[in-house]
Amino acid sequence: PYTGKKINIALCGLGNYASLLAEGLQVSEYCQLSGIVTGTPSKAETWKKKYNIPEKNIYNYENFDSIIKNKDIDLVYVVTPNSLHKEFTVRAAKAGKHVIVEKPMAITIEDCEEMIKACNDNNVQLAMGYRLHYEPNHLEVKRLGQEKVLGQVRYIETSLGYSTYDIHDVNKPVDLNARNEWRLTKKFAGGGALINLGVYCIQVSRYVLGEEPIAVTAQFGTINNKNRFAQVEENITWQMEFPSGAVANCSSSYGFGIDRFHAAADEGFFEMSPAVSYGPFIGKRSDGKPFNFPVINQQQTQMDEICKVILANQKLPNHITGEEGIKDVKIINAIYKAAETGKKISL
Ligand code: NDP
Repeated sequence: PYTGKKINIALCGLGNYASLLAEGLQVSEYCQLSGIVTGTPSKAETWKKKYNIPEKNIYNYENFDSIIKNKDIDLVYVVTPNSLHKEFTVRAAKAGKHVIVEKPMAITIEDCEEMIKACNDNNVQLAMGYRLHYEPNHLEVKRLGQEKVLGQVRYIETSLGYSTYDIHDVNKPVDLNARNEWRLTKKFAGGGALINLGVYCIQVSRYVLGEEPIAVTAQFGTINNKNRFAQVEENITWQMEFPSGAVANCSSSYGFGIDRFHAAADEGFFEMSPAVSYGPFIGKRSDGKPFNFPVINQQQTQMDEICKVILANQKLPNHITGEEGIKDVKIINAIYKAAETGKKISL
């Protein structure tokens, strides 16, 4: 195992996903959990004890900027609600820290541009928290598609959704101002199922084809829980056209569970289901050749791969930087415009 210097990471926003990242950091080789940034004092106490975090590496949202003086933090991992990604990325960059930011990079293209500029201006690297970019099944579908192993891919179907009906009563009013309901608000989430889950379907379509979409069409679906989905979409379906003529038909939902990927190519098909969640992924090829890869810790692998590059003083590859994140935000915005107008939107 690696015994050299590790990147010291501070997690910013201690919610559900930060907890998974913290677990990943317990088994990482190239990085470790060294600090936290939280707006909730009780979490500061629990995390401090659980992960043995020194008091001097604990910040709140007010004193966060003083992290500039802390040589024991190299990187801030932003895991807050979507619309706050920009603020914390820019503040971390100005404090001279590298940044990993969760998906979606931000809600607006202007915010993404500001994040990229702040990191460039301050000579720090900006990585996206795309956990599937180093996942072996995903590397395999990327290879199968881009190397045309089963011929040219003509059509992709991929969807991600989860049901919220098992835990939420349709008739119960919802407090949209509650901190834990940020995903239901335009202000903090920017949208619904598409921006939070559909981003994975956009990603996998793009890297399997190795192409960028040139036009999108989209349709909002039904809203069955009007209390929860007063501001953002519960269901959405969209289509992306690619320069080769390939088409991807995708959907995402907070109303039903779905997690799959299928690529129809000239000489057969390849598919995964589950496909873009936490897995374990199950792949299949129409020619019966093996499609089995070991289950990995997605969070650990992603952070290790990013930190390895930073430790080597190299530039992160484009597929994991802000330049990649902004592409998805542009596509998401075009899909919303297409669903709102009923028109085909060119990219
Ligand atoms: P949570 O609601 O569980 O956590 C978000 C945390 O952000 C809160 O616990 C809080 O931490 C902090 N926060 C700061 N300001 C606010 C605010 N105004 N309202 C609410 N919370 C605030 O969300 P998740 O952890 O599920 O998601 C966080 C981010 O991670 C999102 O961008 C999401 O898209 C992404 N994500 C990525 C996943 C992946 O697989 N890559 C999976 C799940 C989420 P504190 O109390 O410490 O201040």
